[in-house]
Amino acid sequence: MHLTNSDLLKTQAYVNGTFTEAKSGATFDVINPYNGEQISKVTDCGAADTESAIQAASAAFKVWRNYTAGKRARILKNWYKLQIENLEDLALILSTEQGKPLAESKGEIKYGASFVEWFAEEARRIYGDTIPGHAADKRIVTIKQPVGVVGAITPWNFPSAMITRKVAPALAAGCTVVIKPSELTPLSAIALAELAHQAGFPPGVINVVTSSDAKTIGAVMTASPLIRKISFTGSTRVGKILMKQCVDTVKKVSLELGGNAPFIVFDDADLDKAVAGAVAAKYRNAGQTCICANRIFAQADIYEAFVEKFTKAVKEQKIGSGLEAGTVIGPMIEEKAVQFVEAVVADAKEKGGQVLTGGRRHGDSATLIYEPTVLTEVNREMDVYKKEIFGPIAPVFKFETEAEVIEMANDTNYGLASYFYGRDYARIWRVAEALEYGMVGINTGMISTTVAPFGGIKESGFGREGSKYGMDDYLEIKYMCWGGIE
Ligand code: ADP
Repeated sequence: MHLTNSDLLKTQAYVNGTFTEAKSGATFDVINPYNGEQISKVTDCGAADTESAIQAASAAFKVWRNYTAGKRARILKNWYKLQIENLEDLALILSTEQGKPLAESKGEIKYGASFVEWFAEEARRIYGDTIPGHAADKRIVTIKQPVGVVGAITPWNFPSAMITRKVAPALAAGCTVVIKPSELTPLSAIALAELAHQAGFPPGVINVVTSSDAKTIGAVMTASPLIRKISFTGSTRVGKILMKQCVDTVKKVSLELGGNAPFIVFDDADLDKAVAGAVAAKYRNAGQTCICANRIFAQADIYEAFVEKFTKAVKEQKIGSGLEAGTVIGPMIEEKAVQFVEAVVADAKEKGGQVLTGGRRHGDSATLIYEPTVLTEVNREMDVYKKEIFGPIAPVFKFETEAEVIEMANDTNYGLASYFYGRDYARIWRVAEALEYGMVGINTGMISTTVAPFGGIKESGFGREGSKYGMDDYLEIKYMCWGGIE
């Protein structure tokens, strides 16, 4: 990997302001999913290393919380600027360990950095209230205070932005953090730590614990009375485990979990725009995002036309190494992920599904690239309807009425993102209100932005990230009742 700034390719954990080995001396391999080559060996932290990081974050909290908001904001802005200055290198590290196309990685770095900029600005606006009192001699005031040390557990599909989306509001609020990145993509996290170091955060404010043993690190973090909040992005399965583990210490929890997004195309939609939106919403990161369109529903009158245009657009996507110019579909993250997708497609075929394009690995059995796939003749008995696919597979369902499609769209335990295309404004309002989802894209397949609240309902989790609401998850409201004012 040829970086302009080779300092960014570090391999150690970051604890108390120092890049450090694990106490055990252990390391684990980071693999390039495109070619299976080892990129580097990274520090494999255990329970004791995690405890040290928590202790450091706890000590640093006493200092950091007392910085003025302006002082915290200035350091956050330094971090933001460094991320933008090092955009090319950060994107290269990201694509190499994660596989996504370089253009997407650059987009992710900018998106991730935008949270740091936004929350640096928001840091100064943590206002309290004065409330008219309930008795003549009383005055009521509220202030907002940081919750304390935050444990952030983040996934591999957005190795950089899922860290900044949690950490920036936490730091702006005055919290300190212990980050546990995915074992599949620790290098992006370490690079962010290096830039945080350069930005001037005091030791212990940001800690990164890299580990191949997520279960142990998660258990230590959730059991620790010093950690006051866990913010997690990942699978619903692991989210439920963490939520249970947080019961004994009654921690605050924010969970951004899986999705099963409907993408509905009504008969009055602009079909070309709907096709472009569906491709964007489905195939980003080879279908590996929690807001990817999972089930596409097209109304009967335009079904054939939509499927034809959509399949054509899907076939045009360039497949290959994320590092090659023009690649749109890169490898999936690991063999297990490809096998899951293979099983989902096999299940659909067994139950009558038709493969219009794709439906297989791209090349030999060693590749992790799965061809972008379109399935028709699909029904609600299939895994493509029920499960989060997390891969480049688009089943297109046919529907007749608005009521029918709303029922199907909501027929899932998930409730993260949803999308629909249409023009009738009354129907737009009805459908947007009826969808049981935290986010609705209306005539757009791209909904993520720093300025809007990202989050789900039902088993997709709770808490909102980004926007003016994003800081609330890291703040406690304290109410002061002043008496004796006569
Ligand atoms: P994904 O399906 O995106 O891989 P996971 O939920 O498996 O989602 O992983 C998301 C993050 O959760 C990763 O950092 C992973 O290491 C971590 N993780 C996995 N299992 C556990 C666990 N039992 N406790 C704590 N963290 C875990």
